[in-house]
Amino acid sequence: MLPSALLASLEGIKGFHREAFEGVHASGVQLTSVRLNPMKPVQAALAAAQTIQPLLAAPVPWCADAWYLSERPSFTFDPLFHAGAYYVQEASSMFLWKVLTEHIPSPSGKKVLDLCAAPGGKSTLLATYFKEGLVVSNEVIKSRAAILVENITKWGADHVVVTNNDPLHFQSIPHYFDVIAVDAPCSGSGLFRKDPDAIKEWSEDNVQLCSQRQQRIIADVLPALKEDGLLIYSTCSYSREEDEAILDWLVETQGLTSLECTPEADWHITPTESEKYQARGYRFYPDQVKGEGFFIAVLQKTGVAADSHYPGQALPTPSKAELGLLKSFLQLPDAYFLFKQTDHFRAFKKEWETDLSILAKNLYIKKAGVAFGMLKGKDVIPSHELALSYLDLQGLAAVEVDKATALLYLKKKDLMVTADKGWNLIRHCGLNLGWAKVLPNRLNNYYPGEWRILKD
Ligand code: SAM
Repeated sequence: MLPSALLASLEGIKGFHREAFEGVHASGVQLTSVRLNPMKPVQAALAAAQTIQPLLAAPVPWCADAWYLSERPSFTFDPLFHAGAYYVQEASSMFLWKVLTEHIPSPSGKKVLDLCAAPGGKSTLLATYFKEGLVVSNEVIKSRAAILVENITKWGADHVVVTNNDPLHFQSIPHYFDVIAVDAPCSGSGLFRKDPDAIKEWSEDNVQLCSQRQQRIIADVLPALKEDGLLIYSTCSYSREEDEAILDWLVETQGLTSLECTPEADWHITPTESEKYQARGYRFYPDQVKGEGFFIAVLQKTGVAADSHYPGQALPTPSKAELGLLKSFLQLPDAYFLFKQTDHFRAFKKEWETDLSILAKNLYIKKAGVAFGMLKGKDVIPSHELALSYLDLQGLAAVEVDKATALLYLKKKDLMVTADKGWNLIRHCGLNLGWAKVLPNRLNNYYPGEWRILKD
């Protein structure tokens, strides 16, 4: 049963039709959708694996590479899921892609912050759209930042920096980002169909608390947005206090200007306007849209461009000898440089070196670019991140394994494969899963213990 106070509060809001809304929540209908990773050779992998390929029922019309599935498979037991071939993401929230194509037609060179990023749905989408940009994916809660690191690693992006900071900390880099996405923590009513257990957590008091927290989060981070930069605000709540009222507050107190989007009529997304300033928002109702409840709006900061200077912090570089050893394992393309973080060497795009030094000075970085590996004496121990990255590893030894062996590998169990001695990529349907070291009489499974499949 949906909370009667929620239903009463939605009366009169554009697009809300009580009967149909209650009906769809009672229907038991569940949707599943995925977004494929175009930076990996997924088409061939999906065709070879035949795990989710036969389930791709219809494209999500507002997002590239996105599909509704005809049923929900066990993703845990699909090795391609662990290889970062796709991300399981609710379809309405993929509308972010449409917003980006309309408002940022030239994504190259842009600096983007995803402020509330865990578990990483929007960040993997942003990483794909801004593949020639720099994406900072931030999560304030430490335990959730770890899940974010895992998902960004699987996605393989080499241009993402994962940070674990409070929104306020971004004030140390004023006017820095071209785009800030705030997918705010909210009262969560938009997910009631998917997760009926969440219904009992809902209360009017919590809606008020969320609304205040949303304002605080945005007020804290807005100084980090460039003049003319875009704020993309979204929630999975239907409550006006967390949606249109936030837009009015943004226009009135933060001086932002609302921008429009143009969804196709047959997507059945409801454009709404805030009460006071007619700022545009877009509502997704599950009785009308093929997706869950969602709200999104785009606003622009206006004003005179500030002349900002950001102090950076030198990134420790490998010595000549270390570089020689790393290169003997894998020669990176010229576009990358290596730096040292604790005992790991990491690869990052040279064009973003200055920016990385600025971020390192001002924020707590959990992961930047791709961990290449570490040195033990003269031996290179390659990192798991390297195996899953977009980087070209075709020259390295690899062994293609079948699904049963791939699952044993992902459970970190012993496996028998015939392979050359030394480091081998374990690959399934052409996608890397991780590393194994082949010794004369055994194979060491290097899959990260904390990510292994626990279920049998
Ligand atoms: N964008 C994510 C995605 O697409 O996968 C979902 C984000 S979820 C709706 C909101 C996130 O905000 C949560 O990860 C939560 O931990 C984080 N959060 C909670 N309190 C916060 C705060 N005070 N400031 C910033 N983020 C916060």
